[in-house]
Formats: sequence, C-alpha cells, structure tokens
Amino acid sequence: MRIAMISEHASPLAVLGEEDAGGQNTHVAELAAALVGEGHDVRVYTRRDSTTLPESVSTPGGYQVCHVPAGPARRVPKDELLPYMGEFGGWLEDRWRHGDWTPDVAHAHFWMSGLATVHAGRRTGVPTVLTYHALGTVKRRHQGGRDTSPPGRVGYERALGRAVDRVVVQCADEVAELVRMGVPRSRMALVPSGVNQDVFRPDGPVAPHDPARPRILTVGRMVERKGFLDVVRALPAVPDAECVVVGGPPAELLPADSFARRLSALAESCGVADRVELVGGVPREEMASWYRSADVLVAAPWYEPFGLTPLEGMACGVPVIGTDVGGIADTVVDGLTGDLVPPRDPRALGAAVRRLLADKVRRFAYATAALDRIRSRYSWKRCAEQLGAVYAAVATVARPARAVA
Ligand code: UDP
Repeated sequence: MRIAMISEHASPLAVLGEEDAGGQNTHVAELAAALVGEGHDVRVYTRRDSTTLPESVSTPGGYQVCHVPAGPARRVPKDELLPYMGEFGGWLEDRWRHGDWTPDVAHAHFWMSGLATVHAGRRTGVPTVLTYHALGTVKRRHQGGRDTSPPGRVGYERALGRAVDRVVVQCADEVAELVRMGVPRSRMALVPSGVNQDVFRPDGPVAPHDPARPRILTVGRMVERKGFLDVVRALPAVPDAECVVVGGPPAELLPADSFARRLSALAESCGVADRVELVGGVPREEMASWYRSADVLVAAPWYEPFGLTPLEGMACGVPVIGTDVGGIADTVVDGLTGDLVPPRDPRALGAAVRRLLADKVRRFAYATAALDRIRSRYSWKRCAEQLGAVYAAVATVARPARAVA
C-alpha cells in the first residue's frame, strides 16, 4: 500500500532529547521503516523547519521524508503551530490531487497533524487514521495553568476522534480517556509501539561507569512531567547509588537550561549533588550503551501517553521501576518484569529502588522476564503488521473526494 504518515512537528530525522523531540520522532521513524519492511511504500510529511532542508529526502529506512513548507522555515514550539495547519493540509491536498503519488491511507501523528490530514483526506477521498500520542485532557489535568496547548485543543481532539476512519490507541489508559471524551470504542484499534531489538539488546558497548557504585538511570526530555525531580528527591533513601539523567540539550548547553539548573539546585538541597550526573541529550545510537550501564532504569513520569524508554531499558535487559501511569502500566508487569509505584511519590519510589538494588536475584528475574515480554510482544514488525491490517480495513471503505470550490 501507499502510506502517508503526517507528523507536523516531529521529524523522524530530528536529534532527540530536546523539549519537543522524543518518542513521537522515534515512533514515526521506526514505524515507517517497519512498514517498508512489510513491503509498503511510505512517505512521511513533516514541517520544513529550516531553510537548509530539501523538499524530500530518501532515508536508510527506505521511506521518504517530505518537508512541507507550512509556517516559518525555523523551529517553532509545537504548541504554536496550529495557525499553520490549514496551509499544511492545503499543501497535502494539492500534492495528493495533482502530484504523481496519492496515498491509499494517511496516518496522522498528534492532533495537529490530524487537522491537516483530515483537511486533505476529506478533499481527496484518502482514508485517515490518527494516533494522538498525547491528549489535551490529560495534559490539562496535570499541568493546569501551565499547559501551553492552544485553546480548543480538547474540542479538536474530540472532533477528530469522530472525523477520522480509525483511531490508533497505544494503551488501555488511553482507551478509557477517549471513551470518557465521547470517542466511540468501535473506532479504536489498540496497537502498542514496539522497540528496535537490533539496537536495544543486552549485549554491546556499555557507557563508562564505576562497577562499585550502583547506577540508577533515568531518561527523557528535560520537562517537569518526566519526574526527574521526584527521582532526585528519592535518592537520599538510596545510599551509595548514583543517579544518571540522560536527555535534554547537549551537555555543553545544559548550564543554560532552566530545568537542568532547577534539578541541580534540588540535588544540592537534598544533599545528593555528588551522586547526580546530568549527561544531557545523547544521540539515538548511543542510548543502548547508557541503558546497559545501569542497574535499574527509573521511569517516573506524572503521566505518559506510551513511554518508549521503559521498553528500551527492558530490551537491554535492565530492570525497570516505573510509575503506574499510561503506557507504563501496560508495558511493565508489576512484580514480574519490574515494579510499579504511584506517580509523584518520592517516598514510594525510594523504597522500591532501595529494595531492588539490594536484591540481585530479583533484578535478574525482572530483567529476564522483561526481555521475554519484549521479544514476544513489542517488535516494530508486529506493530507494522497490525497497522497494515487497520490500513487495509479503512482503505476498502473507498469514498469519493468531496468536491471543493
Ligand atoms: N532519547 C534519545 N536521546 C536522549 C533522550 C531520549 O535518543 O538524550 C530517545 C529515547 O531513546 C526514546 C525517546 O527519545 O526513544 C523518548 O521517548 P519517550 O516515549 O520515553 O518520551 P517522549 O519524548 O515521547 O515524552
């Protein structure tokens, strides 16, 4: 099939770890490559956010990335991109109508991509599928007045849930949220993300570490909801261990990052500054070596639409302690492949980490069971096969293109 993937702010080619570049970028890159592996013809459409980007690029994954000239040719925070989605959708419509490549199905990632995709899909007859990746209702609940989403996000998300042909959800928690929003369950297909098991595997290079000192690793963008502050607050309850934080801007830019400064100040006031190391963002190719260097991976977000980092850690044979939220509640099986603790609870987190670091047998058992779970359930190939079936189902419901003036 010809498959269009629309990911307005998250390019599969972006460098990860910074504020708006993380799981969605990885997801789109891996999924596109896996779909090519299944024999599909895949194009990813993302915003042209630099004047140096060519209109289209072929990638080693075998898919093409098309840079859509919508909005300024520079990086713009994702929450400020809404005004350009009409232009984005119009560009897609024009290409799909008059160009030499019209998709059989268009899969949008994130609600703003959904708006552009539905605009183009309605006018060209191309069926549409949407993965939200994150929901405005959840963000508003946790961030309150600090939520920078454009007004109306929740309404748009609700309307999109009814406008697209299928909603791809990633975890049970998301199903429940969408049902509460009024999206019919019958429109949803539950297809969790995968993890690249050629890259994330137990054997391979290991980042430098002191074998005498237990290492707690935590990974993610430098944003408060990832729970890094809670990990630092938990550290006094775990004597001797070091805490390594991977993510955020590259190391040399960390001193200028306000959240990184806040994290360092908290470590100082908790008396653990000598045991906390901020590594900064590292390239995707180096991530596996960081996971392998850890005795335990802590994923402590307040909320998490899916959460690739626990899967990556599990695939590297590292036991995971995660918060019992979103996708983590599905991927980590409490007491079998890892431990689940309540979010925003440094006391519970500290107790769980202390117990696991003191118990080598349990760590080994968790890591073994986790690896088993990854191998049987979380490959991108499996994800691509399941999505291929979803695409085929919606593509058979062919519709005439709506006439436009
Ligand atoms: N990541 C990376 N370098 C970093 C930090 C993170 O390559 O310095 C990758 C990480 O391996 C994972 C993604 O960014 O693939 C983060 O995904 P996750 O779903 O955990 O979080 P999100 O960014 O979607 O909130």
